[in-house]
Amino acid sequence: MPELPEVETTVRGLQKVLIDRTFVDVWTDIQKFTKLKKELKNKKIKKIWRRGKNIIFDISEDYSLLVHQKMTGHFLYDNWNKEDKYNSYIHLKFFLDNGRVLAFSDLRKFAKVKLLKTKDLIKELDSLGPEPLEKGFTFNKFKEALKNKRGKIKQVLMKQEVIVGIGNIYADEILWETKIHPFKDVSKLTEKQLKDIYQSIKKTLRKALKMGGTSTSDYRNIKGEKGTFGKVIKAYRREGEQCYRCKTKIQRKKINARSTCFCPKCQA
Ligand SMILES: [Zn+2]
Repeated sequence: MPELPEVETTVRGLQKVLIDRTFVDVWTDIQKFTKLKKELKNKKIKKIWRRGKNIIFDISEDYSLLVHQKMTGHFLYDNWNKEDKYNSYIHLKFFLDNGRVLAFSDLRKFAKVKLLKTKDLIKELDSLGPEPLEKGFTFNKFKEALKNKRGKIKQVLMKQEVIVGIGNIYADEILWETKIHPFKDVSKLTEKQLKDIYQSIKKTLRKALKMGGTSTSDYRNIKGEKGTFGKVIKAYRREGEQCYRCKTKIQRKKINARSTCFCPKCQA
């Protein structure tokens, strides 16, 4: 699933090409999206922004189009890379007034694409926690977000109501980086460990964003190209490979049916 760096990369790509464009038509082969054809016609894109893993298009007549890419969804614009099979599961096409096409590839078809009045966005987004890359996200804010939270740190980091934007990839990376066991209970973390996690969240997400995100699975940018963070990954999906610090084999364990990869020695 795309996480903050991937969604932000997409949003920045879309901002460059779609501001002030008008939707002229929509094609889809997914029943629940057919009404978009009528709803979006002649509406103009005014602003594109991100909140957590959501992409929001503010459009004319006080409407917003809310998109959550879920597992495998990603936008593709105009002349995207068609060689890559991950760009071929097109289930939505937005035709624009400049003659170009904005397409949406989604192998699993779980993505949410929903038109609503801009004023109703608040209801959709109000359960979300703070944005980790915002200046206002201080160490105190981070501690506040974790206050009274129980459970394994890995799971808590991935809860969007605690902090937005972190999923399986970056949670594994942050915990490897800080040498903290993913199953450690949040309430047992020391002040030093909390500080390390806080700093690693910012550092890891910023670095991944700079590298255009991670494309070990379906994620591609709007040109259909891969992000390069996958090349510097330390723990995520590295089961059986050597830890870059201590050469111990990376282990994989499940929490709630989701895999966690970590070094059993450094992250003891
Ligand atoms: Zn290690």
